[in-house]
Amino acid sequence: MAAWEENVRKVVPYTPGEQPKSRNIIKLNTNENPYPPAPGVERALREMDVQEFRKYPDAETRPLVDVLAEYYQVKPEQVFVGVGSDDVLAMSFLTFFNSGKPILFPDITYSFYDVWADLLKIPYACQPLDDEFHIRVEDYKKDCGGIVIPNPNAPTGVEMGLSQIEEILKSNLDVIVIIDEAYVDFGADSALSLLPKYENLLVVQTFSKSRSLAGMRIGYAIGCPKMIKYLNDVKYSFNSYTMNMTALTLGVEAVKDDAYFKETLQKVMNTRERVKGELKALGFVFQDSKSNFIFASHPNYPAKELFEALKQAGIYVRYFNKPRIDNYLRISIGTDAEMDELIAFFEKYIK
Ligand code: PMP
Repeated sequence: MAAWEENVRKVVPYTPGEQPKSRNIIKLNTNENPYPPAPGVERALREMDVQEFRKYPDAETRPLVDVLAEYYQVKPEQVFVGVGSDDVLAMSFLTFFNSGKPILFPDITYSFYDVWADLLKIPYACQPLDDEFHIRVEDYKKDCGGIVIPNPNAPTGVEMGLSQIEEILKSNLDVIVIIDEAYVDFGADSALSLLPKYENLLVVQTFSKSRSLAGMRIGYAIGCPKMIKYLNDVKYSFNSYTMNMTALTLGVEAVKDDAYFKETLQKVMNTRERVKGELKALGFVFQDSKSNFIFASHPNYPAKELFEALKQAGIYVRYFNKPRIDNYLRISIGTDAEMDELIAFFEKYIK
């Protein structure tokens, strides 16, 4: 090892899902929305004035902050916008988890949390889900440096009830509790309704799944004005112009078309419910999912084998080679036609 390498900040990075080049792949591996963004997004993109690109974008991300504040009926001072919720979460870890005490999150969860904690040298303690992949509230009632819980959880898809979230908030008034709601729009209850009661709550959401804009990288957090001010202070100390003009403009269009948003969500949820029945009929087992994916296991076919066979057939799903979940496939909900192909594959393979 070269001498300089001894002082390098060494990290084991997060591994994102594969983004295959071929268009013929049925891509059910990264929980993207199978439907296009709202029609207004395309219109606004065509109308964008390229001349404007010589200028810096709005550092305050104002157009998006305002439209989100209006949509969720909060004050603009309560909204923070970032480059996908990954950026928002990373900034939140950096801003809020500085006590030196371990932060708490589930053992089976979004695999970026421990990466940020390691990167930022934040101690953490993973709290095991029960055998049915449910979060145990008691595990989150202890002295800690903060809490992060995705609701619904990923990659399990399991929803936690708002009363349980409230119990956790109540027991942790001295630290920040982040509820990562990347998938909440697909049928779970948002903790946004608890904001007026709990100053220690930060709700994080994204445009990547329910608003079909993963490629634009837009995420946001909603919390009390003081918390958002602290987040902005850190953001401005890191990179003032995080959101580019295109993302700011197109994000606004996506929020404005609520009818399209709701219609798309309903389509994904209808497909999910149908696929649940078909997977069950094939012998798959899984907890009920309130997200746009199903985390399933088959008693007779190892998940790794199914994952490889699906890939050979041009169907990509996600497989995690990790303790407790190495016999599961995370299957994103695609269009009806895509899910038909998946089911047809399983019918041949399994029967
Ligand atoms: N939280 C969870 C639980 C996720 O699964 C994801 C998607 N990988 C994210 C946050 C980040 O999504 P994005 O940065 O695209 O908003």
